[in-house]
Amino acid sequence: METVRPGRWNFIPPVPLQSWPLFHWPIDAGGALRFWLRGWRLTTPRVIMLALAFVLWRWASPSLETAATLAPGWIVLLWLRNLTVVSVAALGTHLYLYTFARQGDELRYDARPLGRNKRIFLFNDQVRDNAVLTLGPAVICWTIWEAFMWWAYANGWATMISWSSNPVWFVALLLVVPLWSALYFSVQHWLLHRRPVYRHVHAWHHRNVNVGPLSGLAMHPAEQFLLFSDVVLFLIVPSHPVHMLFAVLHHGVGAPLSHTGYDAIKLPLGIRLHVGDFHHQLHHRLIECNYGGLDSPLDDLIDAFHDGTSEGDRHIAERRKRLSAGARA
Ligand SMILES: [Zn+2]
Ligand SMILES: [Zn+2]
Repeated sequence: METVRPGRWNFIPPVPLQSWPLFHWPIDAGGALRFWLRGWRLTTPRVIMLALAFVLWRWASPSLETAATLAPGWIVLLWLRNLTVVSVAALGTHLYLYTFARQGDELRYDARPLGRNKRIFLFNDQVRDNAVLTLGPAVICWTIWEAFMWWAYANGWATMISWSSNPVWFVALLLVVPLWSALYFSVQHWLLHRRPVYRHVHAWHHRNVNVGPLSGLAMHPAEQFLLFSDVVLFLIVPSHPVHMLFAVLHHGVGAPLSHTGYDAIKLPLGIRLHVGDFHHQLHHRLIECNYGGLDSPLDDLIDAFHDGTSEGDRHIAERRKRLSAGARA
């Protein structure tokens, strides 16, 4: 098992990375269950996002009576709430890890500094570029989709359930939301890599070869709008607003935390907050691999899985050669 390859990475988690054993035949049922349970540890962003979904629903969301009519008042409040959440998740994490460097380069994948004096970025600066795109259009796209869903719940276009009316479905759907989010993200992300969409839209996100928390939502506004659109699931599937909030938080909080560039944030008492995503970090460096996450079957299906090893490097180098030969033909 490899742990660190000096020179190329400052830190890597144990490799080879492995996608969910559920996608591999013959299925290792015990391994699949352990993998799934690991995603629900208390020190993962998923549990934080779930708790936050309940908090936002209880204390920081419009009433259904208010949301029945589209009006600037409640939508502006929603935007301010979302701006606050993204600021804490992306800007707060950036300040902690990069500006104040509270754990230096410990557990950081790629220790190179974020881009400065590079003309591809707005203001020639990666952090400023990322901050503008994240705190500007990304929060607006989130707010548009969430306001639309509140309006749909309030007017009965989205069927609403409650904990008391349907507790089994309530819990089951909470377990489904991360799977839906992973599947939707991987497919739309792979489609964004098709030309000419890549060149005009997704290339904005790939200006970030090395990433920080503000890179997570630093995208072309069209991509941000597409990213948050997975809430349309709840126009078809009966749900509670907590499910919808859990889904949008996978992007509003999940994307900044999966782009921290660190494998974990070290907290007091030896606790590690598992925010990193080396699988996606490889995507940012090598581009034509790892379009989904470890809990999506896409990369295995299209033979684009980079497992973080030297063999993975060779495999993806060959794939890139094949893709560029195909593009020239
Ligand atoms: Zn990409
Ligand atoms: Zn990314």
